[in-house]
Amino acid sequence: MKIKIWGCRGSLPTPGNETLRYGGNTTCLEIRSSTGHMVIVDAGSGLRNLGKSILKDNAVTEVHFLFTHSHWDHLMGFPFFVPAYFSKYTMKFCCGMHAQETIRDFLSHQMESPYFPVDFSQLRATIVFECSNPHHAVCNCRCNGLEISAVPLNHPNGGYGYKFVENGKTFIFIPDNEFGFAHENGPTREDYIALFRDVDLLIHDAQYTEDEYRHTRGWGHSTYADATDVAIASNVKSFGMFHHDPDRTDADLDQQVEFCRQRIRAEKSTVHCFAVAEGMEIEL
Ligand SMILES: [Zn+2]
Ligand SMILES: [Zn+2]
Repeated sequence: MKIKIWGCRGSLPTPGNETLRYGGNTTCLEIRSSTGHMVIVDAGSGLRNLGKSILKDNAVTEVHFLFTHSHWDHLMGFPFFVPAYFSKYTMKFCCGMHAQETIRDFLSHQMESPYFPVDFSQLRATIVFECSNPHHAVCNCRCNGLEISAVPLNHPNGGYGYKFVENGKTFIFIPDNEFGFAHENGPTREDYIALFRDVDLLIHDAQYTEDEYRHTRGWGHSTYADATDVAIASNVKSFGMFHHDPDRTDADLDQQVEFCRQRIRAEKSTVHCFAVAEGMEIEL
């Protein structure tokens, strides 16, 4: 599978000359299966640029959307996804009975008057709210060679991250997740360590510094030190820090990576650690 990052910032887009290298757009990932099928995870502001690239690629007329949760930073790009306005495209929204109802609701609500000038009903793409495995409460499906399963988030209002498996390679994407606080129905730190064990790539929330976390505990995000400790304990091959705080500059993120690499070396671990950047492409 090939993964392309269209947005990795948390909470709010952050344009400006201090965020040029890691990027300012909020969560959006493109995942291509080996057969070329496109899965999009989340509709943060990065989705706008992905939509523009789809318009230029004649091979793509169908996309399969997955959403992690309905917080604003993961939805705000959807009204600006230009393929949704053309009848040649089909958009499939997956993931469970409960999620299918809520996805329709939360995508259409944000386009309601007076919040947005164009109503959801004016979109021209074929929109399919149907899961290939609708009897499951959450996503658990095969999509053109990709095996996709949902992983519950420990985050306010809940939500799901996703595990993708293809040709023996595993990628887990958990954009918003807190290890230091128990949210309703959220898995424990030990549950996550077992889930992440030995995966090829883990992309995980690493939003806060320890100082920030003193007043943001319970807001649903991890410190980068804590996320690194879980990556070490799980022995993941590669750990990408994600959901960068809006206040984090490129220079801050460079320091963050250096701090986490030192922590990994001190533990004599072999985890490869990096900060996810907009535009990054990863092949597994
Ligand atoms: Zn978020
Ligand atoms: Zn969130």
